[in-house]
Amino acid sequence: MNANFMKRTEHAIAGLQRLAYNLWWTWNPRAQDIFHALSERKWRSSNHNAVSVLHSISHAELQARLCDKDFLASVEEVLQDFDEYLKKKDTWYAENVAEADGNLIAYFSAEFGLHECLPIYSGGLGVLAGDHTKSASDLGVPFVGISLFYRNGYFQQTIGPDGWQHESYPLLDTENLPVELVTDEEGNAVTASVEIGHSTVAFHAWRVNVGRATIYLLDTNREENDLHYREISSRVYGGDSTTRVMQETVLGIGGVRLLRRLGISPTVFHMNEGHSAFLTFELLREQLAKGAARPDAENWVKRHCVFTTHTPVPAGHDRFTPDLLDHLLSRFRESIGLDHHTLLSYGRERPDDDKETFCMTVLALKMSRAANGVSELHGQVSRDMWTSLFNAEKPEDVPIGHITNGVHILGWMANRTRQFWHRHLGSKWIYYLKKEAIWAQVSDPDLVPDEDLWALRYGLRRDMIEYVRRMMRHQFDRVGADYNTVQDSILSPDALTIGFARRFATYKRAPLFFREFNRVVEMINDPDRPIQLVFAGKAHPRDDQGKRFIQEIVGHSKNPALFGKIVFLENYDINVARHMISGVDVWLNNPRRPMEASGTSGMKILIHGGLNFSIQDGWWREGYNGENGWSIGGDAHLDDVAEQDARDAAQLYSILEEQVIPEFYDRDEYGIPRRWLQRVRKSMETLIPEFNTDRMVSDYVLKYYNSED
Ligand SMILES: *Cc1c(COP(=O)(O)O)cnc(C)c1O
Repeated sequence: MNANFMKRTEHAIAGLQRLAYNLWWTWNPRAQDIFHALSERKWRSSNHNAVSVLHSISHAELQARLCDKDFLASVEEVLQDFDEYLKKKDTWYAENVAEADGNLIAYFSAEFGLHECLPIYSGGLGVLAGDHTKSASDLGVPFVGISLFYRNGYFQQTIGPDGWQHESYPLLDTENLPVELVTDEEGNAVTASVEIGHSTVAFHAWRVNVGRATIYLLDTNREENDLHYREISSRVYGGDSTTRVMQETVLGIGGVRLLRRLGISPTVFHMNEGHSAFLTFELLREQLAKGAARPDAENWVKRHCVFTTHTPVPAGHDRFTPDLLDHLLSRFRESIGLDHHTLLSYGRERPDDDKETFCMTVLALKMSRAANGVSELHGQVSRDMWTSLFNAEKPEDVPIGHITNGVHILGWMANRTRQFWHRHLGSKWIYYLKKEAIWAQVSDPDLVPDEDLWALRYGLRRDMIEYVRRMMRHQFDRVGADYNTVQDSILSPDALTIGFARRFATYKRAPLFFREFNRVVEMINDPDRPIQLVFAGKAHPRDDQGKRFIQEIVGHSKNPALFGKIVFLENYDINVARHMISGVDVWLNNPRRPMEASGTSGMKILIHGGLNFSIQDGWWREGYNGENGWSIGGDAHLDDVAEQDARDAAQLYSILEEQVIPEFYDRDEYGIPRRWLQRVRKSMETLIPEFNTDRMVSDYVLKYYNSED
């Protein structure tokens, strides 16, 4: 080895360190390939954690491995892409937002779903926040995220022999996560504190790099705190309402204080759901401390805050009793110079009603210059819900708009799919994900032949089935069942495959599909046109009804009449989701309308050629056009829940039997389902440019971040 080569390998090793600590690698498969190649076993066992892989390899080994010139060259290429990405000046933001200089968005969210190796999310809200951050980075939006560091994360799910969900909370090891302690120039942890009850609770923070964006995770696990304060940030949505208020105090008030401590001055504070709404109190306190009169201080706060609500039902909003708030916020309240009644009035629909609970959504709505729901229908539902709060005559006068959610396409794209689009659309398409013209090309069979599309579908379905079979081995081994004799009968690569995965909140009606059991058994076992279903999802630890739903489906999966054709995959997380959304032919979503504010999982399948089969709720009500998937129910719903369930189930069956199944199995002489693929093309062409976070974040920038009215 000569000195020059030595320099190159050292440079690459330093680069890999930087790369592992920037989640840019989570949406760049060639970067993932490098960590995978370094240690395949560690890559798998750590749930695809680049930091963990790197730390398991000695410097001597790295140096030796990089003497392989091909490997070194591929590392250098990836590092070059990475550096170019970080330095890129001509971003969408720079080119489209002229007056943007000096803008900085601070995005507060109780959870961020960025990658499976960092389990600080519970479901859709967190995944949305993660995807928002990735697109903000891709578009060049100046962006900083704030959340909590949950050192026990969200629970891991296992299913017992009786089908009951069990939860465990493994301790996260910060040494081996893509997080870095935020330190000052002397290398000491940067700390700040919040008042809780009569105590002062200190916290430090962890930095997560997401491309060009940064997220700070606040952590109260410090020696100087009493034990029960150290545990504030231990679990995602853990504990009772006392814990909730304490978490939200750290998130909102603590979040602003950390930013100030770091000298970061956001121009917009974006609250992703009401959990972080106490940040408006801290901003109010700052203004009052500077000597502003209260109305002026309030106006200042309003001018700098925007709020996204995600909850379509009154019961879903965070509400706390006056006593609890009085107790936990007493010292903070004194520091702000407000009496109890005045402080609580900010979170009340009727400010003078001392019985009314304190609602975080009300606080956020009152203290923001703009608010939005996450789909058109959810915007409407929210305007209806808050008409009296705004003293509006009619719902249309309520100042709540909507921006429909999206997904970060590259982050959700299977490697096989990415290669497919490279072959068919050239290399530039990844920069134009939301350009309709790119996706219009998929309607051209010369560019994207049916045969290729069908080969992609078969490849992705096979990939998922292999994954399911691997996972089922673990599940079988744990309950002592014999896997070897049955493994090849778990799912068929030729059968129409339907996926259903989401949190098992009861309104999502996971067992709806099984309402007419005998009919289902017949459909599944049709010798010529079989179907099969893959389920996954976690129920909230305190939701016994949700757990009974899981138990019911696990029961069906063991029924000899359905075995191998109904599968329940344990521990739904971003990794399980990624396999499912790329492999299934049809994504089923049957929530009780209008409870699904947006839903995003169905958007993840589009790029892979899957089709949606969903209730007219949330995003699908906007996306469905009659030829790009199927819809259950119309643009209205019954108030009688039992009646609604019965009708939706009946329609689900009839569409499945009369349209979905026949179209999938209607093959021409070459074995190709032409009509089906026509529908796939329509789905891609009409939905991909719209339902992605590049479009969503650019909407936020143009409609909410960048205007002051
Ligand atoms: C996408 C996703 C969700 C959200 O899906 P919905 O359609 O909103 O139910 C939840 N959990 C995980 C792990 C996801 O990847």
